[in-house]
Amino acid sequence: MAVPLMDLKLQYRNMRSEADAAMQRVLDNAEYILGSAVDNFEKEFAKFCNARDCAAVDSGTAALHLALLARGIRIGDEVITTPFTFIATAEAVSHCGAKPVFVDVESETLCIDPAKVEAAITKRTKAILPVHLYGHPAEMKPLAEIAEKHSLLLVEDCCQAHGAEYKGKRAPVSGIGCFSFYPSKNLGAFGEGGAIVGNDPDFMEKVRLLRAHGEKPKNTHNLVGYNYRMHGLQGAVLGMKLKHLEEWNNARRKHAKLYNRELSGIVEIPVERKNAKHVYHLYVVRTAMRDALKKFLDGRSIGNAVHYPCPIHMQPAYSSIGQAKGMFPAAETAAQRVISLPMYPELSKEQLSEVCDAAKEFFKKAQK
Ligand SMILES: *Cc1c(COP(=O)(O)O)cnc(C)c1O
Repeated sequence: MAVPLMDLKLQYRNMRSEADAAMQRVLDNAEYILGSAVDNFEKEFAKFCNARDCAAVDSGTAALHLALLARGIRIGDEVITTPFTFIATAEAVSHCGAKPVFVDVESETLCIDPAKVEAAITKRTKAILPVHLYGHPAEMKPLAEIAEKHSLLLVEDCCQAHGAEYKGKRAPVSGIGCFSFYPSKNLGAFGEGGAIVGNDPDFMEKVRLLRAHGEKPKNTHNLVGYNYRMHGLQGAVLGMKLKHLEEWNNARRKHAKLYNRELSGIVEIPVERKNAKHVYHLYVVRTAMRDALKKFLDGRSIGNAVHYPCPIHMQPAYSSIGQAKGMFPAAETAAQRVISLPMYPELSKEQLSEVCDAAKEFFKKAQK
């Protein structure tokens, strides 16, 4: 039995009439860009995050870019972030004309290591941009203390962490968070999507201005903005899917529990800290035999992927910022050892067994 890494066709089949009806309403009203479906989704998603407000945009990358811009990040600034994330985290910093300054990750959660942040602060440092990697929150309390002490801004990359919690508080933990609704995320659009979640009305007003050409009122452009508006169809789909998110996250957590039970001892299983609620956007295990395991699973048609095989400081695009191979050993080691196993709410018991049995068989053979 083949087991895909994720199964978006199945998800659509399970909610086809609901999704089609939501999209049909947008088409009937010709509300193609922003509009009532997006307004409604913004309200509901803010509620889901226990935040005051949400502004929908057309990708997670755009959300990060606008949040940093609206917080005043500009040319010459430095933003401290993790090298072990999707490239968009660093790109958003670069899009502001600022420089991403990487700090190594904790080997347990693979999120930014707060103990290493202060050493990276310079006169130019303006913000810290932690990523809640794979759906596990970064260690926010010490990060908030450092931010406070050095008067730095905090913006959270929540693109993998819809519904994740830290000390009982939903992400964004510190106030401002950026989400992606890329189709594969825990909450995914039928295309690109993203959102900035926040509590401060001035900040959110700035984000909304930047999102749509700096225009307010009509034909008055207060600043040079962007075209980052969410499409009406995506707002409708997301509003409909949001009703299922809690239940989907619970299913992911249940699958992770089963994987943990079956795989602990043969691979390094993901950690969920006592103060955290992990939402398992990805279920990532670690092993020194990663490449061989990957080949074996490929041969069995068991979906898998590596998030991420090359930390950002070792990517060609960031070769000129003076942060080279060898500087971030925890991230570099993780890049060689991580492998993501099939994880999506609709996974069946049989599929989970298939994955676990294959992994066990691989390690049994490897021992001989
Ligand atoms: C997906 C993702 C992004 C970017 O989101 P897009 O919607 O693809 O632009 C940024 N950061 C992280 C950690 C992500 O996983």
